[in-house]
Amino acid sequence: MIRVPECQTELDLVIVLDGSNSIYPWESVTLFLNRLLQNMDIGPQQTQVGIVQYGENVTHEFNLNTYTTTEDVLAAANAIVQRKGRQTMTALGIDTARKEAFTEARGARRGVQKVMVIVTDGESHDNFQLKRVIEDCENDNIQRYSIAILGSYNRGNLSTEKFIEEIKSIASQPTEKHFFNVSDEFALVNIVEALGERIFALEGSEPTASVLVARCAPGSDNTGATSSCGSTTAS
Ligand SMILES: [Mg+2]
Repeated sequence: MIRVPECQTELDLVIVLDGSNSIYPWESVTLFLNRLLQNMDIGPQQTQVGIVQYGENVTHEFNLNTYTTTEDVLAAANAIVQRKGRQTMTALGIDTARKEAFTEARGARRGVQKVMVIVTDGESHDNFQLKRVIEDCENDNIQRYSIAILGSYNRGNLSTEKFIEEIKSIASQPTEKHFFNVSDEFALVNIVEALGERIFALEGSEPTASVLVARCAPGSDNTGATSSCGSTTAS
C-alpha cells in the first residue's frame, strides 16, 4: 500500500538562469537557488527541478529527471558555474527550456503543471523573438515567473524602464503575481519566500491543479482544503 503524502505537490519546474558577464557575484545566484530549492520536496512523485543557463548559448545544467532528491538537486545547483557570455539571449533560453527541458526524454511528466522561473539582469539581444516564444509557452501551458535583477542598471545609473517592461512581458498573467524585481544580485534571496509561496499556491484557474504549498506540516489533515496546508493567498 502506497502511503499518499498529505500534501502532494507535483510540479515540473525549470529554472532559466542568465549567466551573462554582467551578473555579479554569481554566489548570490547560488544562494538564491539554495534557499529556493531547500524547502522543496523533490522526487519523481513530487516536484522535479531542471536548470538551464544561458548567455549567448544555452546549457542544460541538469534535467528534470537527473536527480531524484532535494539533497542531490541542491548539490548540483551549488556546483553550477557561471558560463558567462557577452550577449543575453533570453528568448533563446526560454525557447530552449520549453522545447527541450520540458520533454519526456528529459523527465517532464504528462499532465503535470509546468513552471518556469526566469532570472535575468538585462534586456535581451533577441527581443524580437520574445513575443513568439512567450506565445509558444502560453500554448504549452507553462506558468512563468520572471525576476529582473536591476544590479547592473543601478550600478551604471541606467534607466530600468525598458528592461522591466520586457521582463514583465515574460511573466504569466496576472503580472503582479508572476513578476519580481530586485535591486541587485544580493537581494535575490529576499524574494525566495514570496516566490516559493506563489509557485506552490493553489492556482484557482488550473482545473487540474492539486497543487499545495510545499511546506506542509507532516501529518496535517488535508482533505482537499488547501487551508490546512497553510497556503497563503499571494495577493
Ligand atoms: Mg547580462
